[in-house]
Amino acid sequence: MMRDVHKLDVPSYQVDTERHHRFDQRQTVFGRMLHDPRAPFYRRSMYNNCGAILARYHDGYSRIAYCVACVAEFIRSLGYHALPMGNDTALSIPLSIDAGLGELGRLGLLVTPEHGPCVRISKIFTDIPLVPDRPVAFGVREFCSQCTRCADACHAKAIQQTPQPSFNVVCPSNNTGIERWAVDHDRCYGFWIENGSDCSNCIAACPYTPCSK
Ligand code: SF4
Ligand code: SF4
Repeated sequence: MMRDVHKLDVPSYQVDTERHHRFDQRQTVFGRMLHDPRAPFYRRSMYNNCGAILARYHDGYSRIAYCVACVAEFIRSLGYHALPMGNDTALSIPLSIDAGLGELGRLGLLVTPEHGPCVRISKIFTDIPLVPDRPVAFGVREFCSQCTRCADACHAKAIQQTPQPSFNVVCPSNNTGIERWAVDHDRCYGFWIENGSDCSNCIAACPYTPCSK
């Protein structure tokens, strides 16, 4: 079964700042950057077929920095504290799952209903009063148990092929006590070094990704 996730008609670089999450008496506001799937690629991996998606990644990081800073400044203008951040300071994926932005996929990334794993996440620690959102389930876990496209596309064999998730860890970077398909990040980053570029074959292969391969 293939999921229809075509979103090519959406405006580029939307920021969703409506979701939020309570975190240690403070709260986290999430920005989720949608990358333009029509952006031209500028790098090409030795093995992969997804240069266009690489371009979207890099551009997404630039734009989350700009957008999260703007949202934080807006919160400060209302008289509250706001600390904007990208991948630093706290793990974005667990927080974004708690905030209901999506589910964790086999490939170890946030899978959103609208754009699959093809997003970049930013966050803001703030004390502005917010009503927390709740985690969502829209079938990713069940779908992943039947699908191995990301694992099949991974030249580094960093993604597990097992039908069901488990508490197993596969490299020192994995936190313990979490039931999921743990990704071997040593293999993944080793491949990036070998490849002379980062990768994204797993994202390009995922049926939830708009215009997936
Ligand atoms: S980014 Fe590339 S090497 Fe890393 S898990 Fe995905 S497909 Fe494998
Ligand atoms: S490619 Fe398939 S198994 Fe991998 S995250 Fe996407 S839906 Fe799940």
